[in-house]
Amino acid sequence: MTYLPASDRYDQIPYNRVGNSGLKLPAISLGLWNNFGGEDVVENQRKMLRRAFDLGITHFDLANNYGPPPGSAEENFGSILKKDFQAYRDELIISTKAGFGMWEGPYGDWGSKKYLVSSLDQSLKRLQLDYVDIFYHHRPDPETPLEETMATLDLMVRQGKALYVGISNYGAADTEKAVEILQKQGTPFIIHQAAYSMFNRWVEDGLTDVLEKAGAGCIAFVPLAQGLLTNKYLNGIPKDSRAAKEHIPFLNKKDVSDDVIEKVNQLNDIAKERGQSLAQMALAWVLQEKTVVSALIGASRVSQIEENVKALDNKDFSNDELQIINKILK
Ligand code: NDP
Repeated sequence: MTYLPASDRYDQIPYNRVGNSGLKLPAISLGLWNNFGGEDVVENQRKMLRRAFDLGITHFDLANNYGPPPGSAEENFGSILKKDFQAYRDELIISTKAGFGMWEGPYGDWGSKKYLVSSLDQSLKRLQLDYVDIFYHHRPDPETPLEETMATLDLMVRQGKALYVGISNYGAADTEKAVEILQKQGTPFIIHQAAYSMFNRWVEDGLTDVLEKAGAGCIAFVPLAQGLLTNKYLNGIPKDSRAAKEHIPFLNKKDVSDDVIEKVNQLNDIAKERGQSLAQMALAWVLQEKTVVSALIGASRVSQIEENVKALDNKDFSNDELQIINKILK
């Protein structure tokens, strides 16, 4: 059946300005790292993308290597885009990245011009697009000169293959250097994609200061700690969870430790007092950090997206709540 998006889709979510740029992102964005690969059910992917857009999620985040197998998330997204969203391309912010290992040999990894140019061309083919809205360098490369990597981002913008560029997983000092180089080259640096959650607060240690000074924004990835900051693991490891899937090496059974579960239960009590689920409180919490413009969630089913968007119904925290949360997280 032809997909007709919900007519009230722009009444659901606030759109936050990314630093001093012209771009706005929805307070909640959807990432396709997990559950959108070649081994996942395409009809479920399609349902999640449709529902997300109906709820006002205009930003979908990919990378060359998302799958498994690498590239399959871009391929799946590209074909769903063609079927369902072709008429809405101008309402979407689609991002991709390169920086991790993608193909064999010396030109399929890290941050050289050779790798990044080829990788974006491959991504555009898989996505069946002429351009992406944001292209990120996925991680810092200790060997390639930062000038070369940043000049490549600048080139992509000048060629019209990316509208905006950003970086991901760069520490505060490297980010500062990257900002300076891009400024000199004439392409503004607008966004950093960084891991940030109640369980991973490294960005508070200097990165957000750098971003604020640069007039850039932060999109927070893995805000639910891959599902740990939800009610999913309160009573053990469900069969259909990420931690139970043997082929996904990023969240293991041992990550769901007694200590983590105790903290999660304590946080869950606070969420209940706030009239929220733990996932909703965890998302509201990341959005409080200065410069964080969007929480970049993942999902394995439609109901999770629906629950998570409702986080925005209660975004404010009292000082008391924040103090108790800090105590639990210590
Ligand atoms: P999250 O921390 O949001 O975890 C998502 C997982 O949590 C879901 O797959 C689901 O797990 C579970 N979940 C989500 N909502 C609920 C809910 N309401 N109730 C119960 N469980 C829930 O983020 P991800 O780890 O998925 O990462 C999000 C995105 O961040 C990626 O898709 C990618 O775009 C980006 N990213 C970027 C990186 C980078 O280096 N730049 C690195 C990693 C991610 P389950 O599958 O078990 O149901």
